[in-house]
Amino acid sequence: MNFKTDISYRKQSLIKLLNCVHLHEEEIIKALHDDFKKPAFEAVLSETGYIIAELNHTIKNIHKWAKPQLVLPSLLNFPSTDYIYKEPYGKVLIIAPWNYPYQLALCPLIAAVAAGNQVVVKPSELTPNTSGIVAKIISKAFDESHVKCIEGGVEITQQLLAQRWNYIFFTGSIAVGKIVAKAAAENLTPVTLELGGKNPCIIDETANIKLAAKRIVWGKFLNAGQTCIAPDYLLVSNKIKTAFIESLKKEITDAYGENPETSPDFPRIINKKNWDRLTAMLENETLLAGGKTNSKDFYLAPTLLDEPGLDSLVMKEEIFGPILPILSFGNEADLTSIISRYEKPLSLYIFSNDKAFAKKIIQNYSFGGGCINDTVVYFSNKKLPFGGVGQSGIGAYHGKLSFDSFTHRKAIVKKGNWLDIPIRYAPYKGKLNNLRRILKWLG
Ligand code: NAD
Repeated sequence: MNFKTDISYRKQSLIKLLNCVHLHEEEIIKALHDDFKKPAFEAVLSETGYIIAELNHTIKNIHKWAKPQLVLPSLLNFPSTDYIYKEPYGKVLIIAPWNYPYQLALCPLIAAVAAGNQVVVKPSELTPNTSGIVAKIISKAFDESHVKCIEGGVEITQQLLAQRWNYIFFTGSIAVGKIVAKAAAENLTPVTLELGGKNPCIIDETANIKLAAKRIVWGKFLNAGQTCIAPDYLLVSNKIKTAFIESLKKEITDAYGENPETSPDFPRIINKKNWDRLTAMLENETLLAGGKTNSKDFYLAPTLLDEPGLDSLVMKEEIFGPILPILSFGNEADLTSIISRYEKPLSLYIFSNDKAFAKKIIQNYSFGGGCINDTVVYFSNKKLPFGGVGQSGIGAYHGKLSFDSFTHRKAIVKKGNWLDIPIRYAPYKGKLNNLRRILKWLG
């Protein structure tokens, strides 16, 4: 077994993983439900189906991605053939969060294996049912000396971080991202940090109100708002605010019924700590919809808040739950004064039929990625980089970019021996003018 150099072996490993993933799909769907009542539809859409598609795509393309890439040689080196060799980093650590606990553990794993690395995966301790099946799938699909799953919480993660790695891929909060970055810096280990932030969602007066409300309700309340790229807060033109709120309320009822607590399609908050954090955000706020809670199973209804203060709890940090603050704006200066208060977000969404306005927003603000007239779905295109900027993350992945993230690109010039142009060799006397002429000619 040589996963470092044998691309066919890596491909066979991924085919084995694909078989295990198919074999255990129902168990994963059940585990996700046991962990936080994730509906089967969402589990297939955003976890198992996603991973199967990513595996098929990687298996199909691995030979193409992994082979040395011929590039145009530089005339300065004539005669030469120039290549980029794809070298695995070596020992890779993947740390996953709980909100998409299967997909966010396996997606980077697929790429790390495709690129020829030896991998340790540390799933989240907050979704123990899913974590247990991830561990089972990994132990069935891979030799332990190739890929290993280590389950555990903060202490185990800190022990892992104290070891020396050749690459660390972390998905999680900004606070822990900083801990990971510090640990990696000790050995100058390169990192991908997939973090979070406060994602604005702007709706101007030209937007299609009904469709915008439908797509926002879907993207926000999917996974009960526990999605890193969910809209965090709305900025609605004050010209359409009243109508827009009515549309949002209608869409919530259409999706989850009069009492979302009994809907099979609405998950729960992951644990008491997060439920306490979220319910505290409701205190002293004006409710437009929802607000109902149940501490027994950490239920929190899809909730709309009207104009919370910018210094309120809900506007201070990433919400990461089913609470949607609605702020209104009158002009572009209002937008700037709110959006610019926060660090660069992971996502930004614009609902508008005014092309010039949408273009201006994209140019004016820095953010990881986003959509015009939709939410969340930019995640699903393998050809688009997925990752943050500034505090929302370092690096990007998905599709071939994932393979590239786990690959060192080694530059090689293979020089011909049949000609040796003498100008570069000392002594340089009398050569400077010729050098200038050649450089000018080469441009
Ligand atoms: P988290 O940072 O608390 O935990 C992530 C991982 O780090 C877990 O495996 C956990 O065991 C470990 N960890 C926790 N505390 C640690 C510590 N003190 N030292 C070392 N390791 C530690 O994040 P979470 O609560 O699991 O996930 C929610 C966060 O993740 C949100 O901020 C969300 O925006 C972000 N997120 C980002 C993406 C993305 O793709 N950018 C995807 C999902 C979630």
